[in-house]
Amino acid sequence: MSESDQIHKVVIIGSGPAGWTAAIYAARANLDPVVYVGVAKQSPAIQLPGGQLMLTTDVENYPGFPDGVSGPQMMQMFQKQAERFGTKTQPRDIVSVEFNSDGPHKLVTDKDETVYAHTVILATGATANWLGLENEQRLARNGGGVSACAVCDGALPMFRDKPLAVVGGGDSAMEEATYLTKFASTVYIIHRRDELRASKVMQERYLSKPNAEVKWNSVVEDIKSTTNEHGQEVISAVVLKDTTTGELSDLEVGGLFVAIGHTPATGFIKDSGVTFNEKGYVQLDGKTTETNIPGVFAAGDIADDHYRQAITAAGTGCQAALDAEHWLGDRDLI
Ligand code: NAP
Repeated sequence: MSESDQIHKVVIIGSGPAGWTAAIYAARANLDPVVYVGVAKQSPAIQLPGGQLMLTTDVENYPGFPDGVSGPQMMQMFQKQAERFGTKTQPRDIVSVEFNSDGPHKLVTDKDETVYAHTVILATGATANWLGLENEQRLARNGGGVSACAVCDGALPMFRDKPLAVVGGGDSAMEEATYLTKFASTVYIIHRRDELRASKVMQERYLSKPNAEVKWNSVVEDIKSTTNEHGQEVISAVVLKDTTTGELSDLEVGGLFVAIGHTPATGFIKDSGVTFNEKGYVQLDGKTTETNIPGVFAAGDIADDHYRQAITAAGTGCQAALDAEHWLGDRDLI
């Protein structure tokens, strides 16, 4: 780096609840944070940053919004609040990094610009895995009854007393399906094999519900939709293919929840020296947001394969900003 290069106190990578909350705290601590908001990772169909909430129509479980709020609107509000205190927003992706234990850290954008920072907060989240069906993203984005998060969306009135389907055979699928049994008439698990991957206890919890039914050896080939009384396109059925016979059949459902795993957005740091856990998420040091590299912190779903909620991501974003502030203070960098 040359003498004229500016070294930022805090650079935040990612613009979901974790990134913006880190920015609000860092900005209010006069750390002049810069947020690299990135280019959308959820789907090529959505060219907006903002993480998984960009695919969430109504957020009803975030405290402070008694009437609910749409995911994209909520992210705009987070951004506005961060910018109110002086956060700078950069509409760029960080594509590679060179972390330096003696600092500063070097980041490179998708336009090949170089950025230096004493502390970096990784908050790029994780993306839900999708089935890859043609209308899946459109229905998910427009509130058409397709979702990758039952805990976020399952309690919406549109799903009440309807047959619902959950794809997947892991713990997430069991958890989502069990949750949905409270609202749905029937909750189908659609699983591609004849044996569930989920732990026995999670299986039992779902299978013990009177309205649970498993469609074994089945994959979703297509999603059928209809227009509801408000003129909105909504799911009406899924076309199932029996993996043993190849036979196709329609299953009428009022909602489809895809629970086939998540992938943390860590590609840009894979060779950076950051330690990952056995599932590929950033490994943190105990209850802090510190990674194994001094001055590099992580917040939100990039380091959390368990809770994965907007509110928990925001909470760790706050922690990361406080950790970064203490780190800078201890080294007389603020
Ligand atoms: P997971 O364990 O990887 O399970 C993914 C499921 O989706 C598997 O059953 C897999 O089928 C299926 N699948 C994958 N790709 C598919 C495709 N293209 N089409 C159809 N099905 C597909 O993921 P997870 O359930 O999200 O769990 C992730 C981790 O979090 C696990 O370690 C889990 O134990 C943990 N977790 C724990 C809890 C809890 O304890 N409360 C709750 C949720 C998650 P196959 O089985 O055939 O591979």
